[in-house]
Amino acid sequence: MNDPFSAIPWRAPALWREANNSLKRILRNTGPALEESRRLAHRLKQQLTSTFPLMDRLCRETCLDCVDICCQRAWVWADFRDLLFFHLAGIQPPDQQLLSRQGDHCRYGGPMGCRLDRIQRPFVCTWYLCPDQTRRLREEPAQMNAISDSLRRIKGLRQELETSFIQATT
Ligand code: SF4
Ligand code: SF4
Repeated sequence: MNDPFSAIPWRAPALWREANNSLKRILRNTGPALEESRRLAHRLKQQLTSTFPLMDRLCRETCLDCVDICCQRAWVWADFRDLLFFHLAGIQPPDQQLLSRQGDHCRYGGPMGCRLDRIQRPFVCTWYLCPDQTRRLREEPAQMNAISDSLRRIKGLRQELETSFIQATT
């Protein structure tokens, strides 16, 4: 029988620790060959951070009164590109994968919202704009275009980061 949870990488704490320790070791041992990857991670951090003021505003306008909190039913997790980004940009990764058991909701969702800093969240959490937020953004076409461009650039940088890392380490 297919186990849908098998799609989630490093969902056991030991596997999560091992993945993070392996990346730390690779970064320590690879040195200057990862210069391009570090540069890309820095650009990615800047690009992500530039979206946060708008995301914070949208959240203030919509999440406080929300009766169907997306994080309570989200089927999301940190992937390889997220981990690479955290390590190459010098960001403390979350201490565990978001989900670990069938029926779980994200361990970082709390009564006051997400307990992770925005920069520590998997990209999928930044990328997701719920219908209410999207509707509000449609009323501000300039903001809508700006955020769409940023999210497109972030996706491209994540892909470049992974490619650059693989080329530097294989
Ligand atoms: S992002 Fe949208 S669905 Fe999620 S908690 Fe905020 S208002 Fe609710
Ligand atoms: S990491 Fe935060 S934003 Fe992402 S699903 Fe979990 S609680 Fe929600």
